[in-house]
Amino acid sequence: MSRLVVVSNRVADLTVSAQQGGLAVALADALRQRGGVWFGWSGENSDKAAQEEPKVEQYGNVERIAVSLSKKDYGDFYVGYANSVLWPLFHYRLDIVKYRRSYFDGYNRVNQLYAEKLLPFLKPDDMIWAQDYHLILFAKALRERGCKQRMGYFLHIPFPPPDLMAASPNHKALVNGLLAYDVIGFQTSTDAHNLRRYLIEYPSDAEVDGNGRITVEGREVRIDRFPIGIDNDVFAEMAQNSPDDVQIDIMRRRVLGRKQIIGVDRLDYSKGLPARVQAFGRLLEKFPQTEKAVTFLQIAPPTREDVSAYAVIRKEMESLTGAINGKYSDFNWTPIRYIHRSVPRDKLAALFRGSQVGFVTPLRDGMNLVAKEYVAAQDPEDPGVLVLSQFAGAAEEMNAALIVNPYDIDEMANKLNKALTMPLEERKERHRHLMVSIRNFDARSWLDGFLAALEGRTNGGDVTEDA
Ligand code: ADP
Repeated sequence: MSRLVVVSNRVADLTVSAQQGGLAVALADALRQRGGVWFGWSGENSDKAAQEEPKVEQYGNVERIAVSLSKKDYGDFYVGYANSVLWPLFHYRLDIVKYRRSYFDGYNRVNQLYAEKLLPFLKPDDMIWAQDYHLILFAKALRERGCKQRMGYFLHIPFPPPDLMAASPNHKALVNGLLAYDVIGFQTSTDAHNLRRYLIEYPSDAEVDGNGRITVEGREVRIDRFPIGIDNDVFAEMAQNSPDDVQIDIMRRRVLGRKQIIGVDRLDYSKGLPARVQAFGRLLEKFPQTEKAVTFLQIAPPTREDVSAYAVIRKEMESLTGAINGKYSDFNWTPIRYIHRSVPRDKLAALFRGSQVGFVTPLRDGMNLVAKEYVAAQDPEDPGVLVLSQFAGAAEEMNAALIVNPYDIDEMANKLNKALTMPLEERKERHRHLMVSIRNFDARSWLDGFLAALEGRTNGGDVTEDA
């Protein structure tokens, strides 16, 4: 079995426990099984980054190799191109892309730097797996240095339709960069289809034959979907061991006959948070019986605060929650509890279990693991109801949820009311279906599916629903 080399923008902490981070844990397991390397940015800035030797740490048969970035590279590559251009563009938000030529130069420079620094550690039969939107040009940078290894890429966020992609001044370089990988993996068939359509509609290095087979100078490139998931058992177990303060809160609500709707997201404009708060306001307005009977708990920790669009959403959320709370609060009831902090995972899991509705309404999302975590956390004998955006990648599999259009505030209010009043039998039935979908597509199946494709053990073609 060849060694696995995982490359991600931030190199993971290889000592994390299963409770802490789903994906990092799954990838670290795969590395331990085969032996290998995890390579990426240490999170540190250094103006001598280009001259510095990478920092190497050994954990059994896994090497953790970390490089630092100069302040300029951090600004142009990370804050700039990755998070002010690619993130909004790939979430269909051309309107807030902040494009500068210097950002793309920085992006290219850092992808080259990573390739340069990783090169001396590579062995000829290694398998390389790059993660996410920071590393689109990475395989090409390695190929330019003579690397012939199998290289795979997984995009954790959506991939936009061809005409949106083509609005980026660098679309040709980005797509041709992607084509240097042997396997290009997406979360959903929509994303995979968007790249295929681009290759048909726009000129690139690829040739697409009548069967949809894609080749670049004779080398076959596989484009497919590999839906990501969570470790359901670990999460379900965490949810059952509620910390005392969560148990007390659940008991208090039970005594008061009060239900809870929960939302948990990074405070990102892709998550549809303002419309979600408005939908809760509309629920209180349209269904007066929900007043004092339902609370909305929204947990949304800050993220990427050095990107300006995030300051805007923060202000908007504070003003919207303030307005609704001002209008409806009473001395013994606050309709919206808004927490702008991170919460430990075990507490989150218990809060999911103690909430009667999971409200997950991104305007566009690669997958959305919160939707899966909410379902995994439920008591199968008395499960809560998931209200899910049609534009979350998760909606492709989780069609037993109450699916909503996250732009339609009235529809969301109606579906919230339906969720809050849903009979036990229907809740159980929907939960059973949702459990099947999150078991079919969990962290393990994602990993095994992608690695099988990268090793060339499976052919192209979509993963089927019952895979
Ligand atoms: P994204 O990757 O865009 O943030 P996902 O829903 O796919 O969205 O994954 C988010 C992950 O971060 C989930 O595992 C979720 O439990 C976790 N998370 C989100 N908000 C918080 C929070 N306030 N505290 C702790 N963990 C959080």
